[in-house]
Amino acid sequence: MAGIWPGETRCVVMLGFDVDGPSAMIRRNPQVEHMPSARSMGEFGPTVALPRILALLAERAIHASFYIPGWVAERWPGAVEQIHAAGHEIAHHGYLHEPPATLEGDEEANVLDRGSEILERLTGERPLGYRSPSWELSPRSLRLLADRGFVYDSSLMGDDAPYMVDAGDGRRLVEIPVHWSLDDAPYYPFNPATGRTEVMASPAQVFDTWFSAFEEIYMRGRAYTLTLHPWISGRAGRLSMLERLIDQMRRFEHVEFARAIDVARAFAAQA
Ligand SMILES: [Zn+2]
Repeated sequence: MAGIWPGETRCVVMLGFDVDGPSAMIRRNPQVEHMPSARSMGEFGPTVALPRILALLAERAIHASFYIPGWVAERWPGAVEQIHAAGHEIAHHGYLHEPPATLEGDEEANVLDRGSEILERLTGERPLGYRSPSWELSPRSLRLLADRGFVYDSSLMGDDAPYMVDAGDGRRLVEIPVHWSLDDAPYYPFNPATGRTEVMASPAQVFDTWFSAFEEIYMRGRAYTLTLHPWISGRAGRLSMLERLIDQMRRFEHVEFARAIDVARAFAAQA
C-alpha cells in the first residue's frame, strides 16, 4: 500500500506553529491585557520559545508553516522576519485571534485584509495559507478566502490527507485538515486566566498519542499535520519531546517534511 503521494514518498509531515503569543487568551478574556503574569506566559512564545524552535528546525533542515495573528506580528515584527528569512511559510491566523464564526457583517473580511496587510508589510509577500483561530470557520470563510486568492485553508477535520473544498462560484480551495488530537493545546491547557484548570498531560503521554497516530498515518500513506503553539510546546520537557518525536519519525523511510503551502500547491495542480 503506497498511499496517496507521488514517487517514493510514503507520508508527508506538516509541522504547523500557531504563533499566538498572548493573543488568543486576550481575545478570550480582554482582562489578560492588564494581567502581567498571564500575558507573560503567552509572550514566552514569540520571545523565548520561537528562537529555540527555529534552531531545532534548522538543525534538521526542516521547513514548517507558521500561522501568525496580525496583532502578534505588529508586536514582534523581528520574529516574523526571522521565520521568513529561514524559509518557513508565513500564513494567516486572524488579527487578534478572532474565530470567524464569532464575527459579524464585514468584520471577517476586514480581519482577513488587516492580517494580510501586516504580514505582507513584513515579508513582502501576501500569505496564501490560512488557519482560522480556534478552528471555527464561519459559513462565509471559504468564499472570502477564495476572493482573496488564498490557496488553502487549514481548519477542517474531514480527512487525514489534503482534499478539495467548495469555495463558491465554482471555485475550490485545498484543505489541509487538522484534528484536536494532533494539537498541543488540549493536552497542556492549564491557564487560570482563561478558566482552563484541568490537569496537564505529561510530555510522555503526549508523545505516545502523537507517535501512535504517526505510525498509523504512515502505514496508510497519508498526511501527518501537527499543530504546535510556541508558548505551549516551547516549554522545557515539551520541546525536547517534540525533538524526540521528529527524530523518531525521521527514522521511517520516505517520510517528507514539508510546508503546508507546498503540499497545497502540488495537490491543487494534481486535483
Ligand atoms: Zn491560534
